[in-house]
Amino acid sequence: MHNFNAGPSILPKEVFEEASRAILNFNNSGLSILEIGHRTPLFENVMNEARSLVRELMSLDKDHEVLFLHGGASTQFMQVPMNLLNEKEMAAYTDTDVWGTKAIKEAKLFGHVEVVCSSKDRNYTYLPKDFHVPATAKYLHITTNNTIYGTQWQDLAAFEKFNVPIVADMSSDILSRSIDFNKFDLIYAGAQKNVGAAGVNLVVVNKNILGQVNRPIPTMMDYRNHIENGSMLNTPPVFAVYICMLTLKWLKENGGVAAAEKLNHAKATLFYNTLDSLPVFKGTVAREDRSFMNAVFVMEDPVLEKEFSERCKQEGLYGVKGHRSVGGFRVSMYNALPLESVVVLTEVMKDFANKKG
Ligand SMILES: *Cc1c(COP(=O)(O)O)cnc(C)c1O
Repeated sequence: MHNFNAGPSILPKEVFEEASRAILNFNNSGLSILEIGHRTPLFENVMNEARSLVRELMSLDKDHEVLFLHGGASTQFMQVPMNLLNEKEMAAYTDTDVWGTKAIKEAKLFGHVEVVCSSKDRNYTYLPKDFHVPATAKYLHITTNNTIYGTQWQDLAAFEKFNVPIVADMSSDILSRSIDFNKFDLIYAGAQKNVGAAGVNLVVVNKNILGQVNRPIPTMMDYRNHIENGSMLNTPPVFAVYICMLTLKWLKENGGVAAAEKLNHAKATLFYNTLDSLPVFKGTVAREDRSFMNAVFVMEDPVLEKEFSERCKQEGLYGVKGHRSVGGFRVSMYNALPLESVVVLTEVMKDFANKKG
């Protein structure tokens, strides 16, 4: 099978193999990874290694802390403003996808929100270019890759000119390209797209921005408590953290972020070049804003969509399907997807186009 699913999504087969062994007998302990205590050296080593791999792969400085938290990216929509935004203060938000819209809704529960740009007018098919972020913003929230509509900010350094702390939802493109992660004051990502299995959330936070709000923060929601306890404030999602650790290790062994970026570039280039060469298919987003992770397209003649969908199934292409709110097709090309899968997909597209053209 070639897995193009948007999330949960493909992971390296080495990870599945190692994880399946660990379910039966973890590190020759005679115990399953699913039954060991989280406050044992067996698991503490997993957590420590996962955190240090993130630190290494992202080249983080000592101000940035790495956390593995519960609740998925959606919980961060509320946890971020709860920890960073006072009631009378304002945070700037970009509205570039359904996920950004959800983050805005949650932030409004805690303080003022200024939506500094939106691409809602054209159904999120592009990224806004000229917009301003007031210097009074407590932080600027962006979604680096818009999973559902298939756009991705290509120049993340451009956000630095506003001189406000940057908070980024990187759920669908974390560790997929070389960027300066230290420029972000808070990064979060649900693991199930590019770093592991569902059930855990990776958070990287600059500890200097914490402790500036005056509301009481519930214990489990306060980042400082998780930092102090090394992501072991309560029982962590043991297996999900373990899968992250294995995936991060695989990434490191395969050349790290730079190598992933190179491969992701090759996959996306092959895909989009093929798409643009076949008139029966049509990309839906502005070319300069196209995502390297999630490519969204439709068919010139919508009547053919069902047939193409059937063909994909026959060929073992899994997850070639638009989000329920958009329709059409979406293919996700996360780190673990081999180039070979995109070769197979593009050959199927060419053959389909030939027969219909
Ligand atoms: C998938 C996704 C989310 C939601 O993640 P959950 O872990 O399901 O809460 C949020 N933001 C982006 C950009 C996503 O791709």
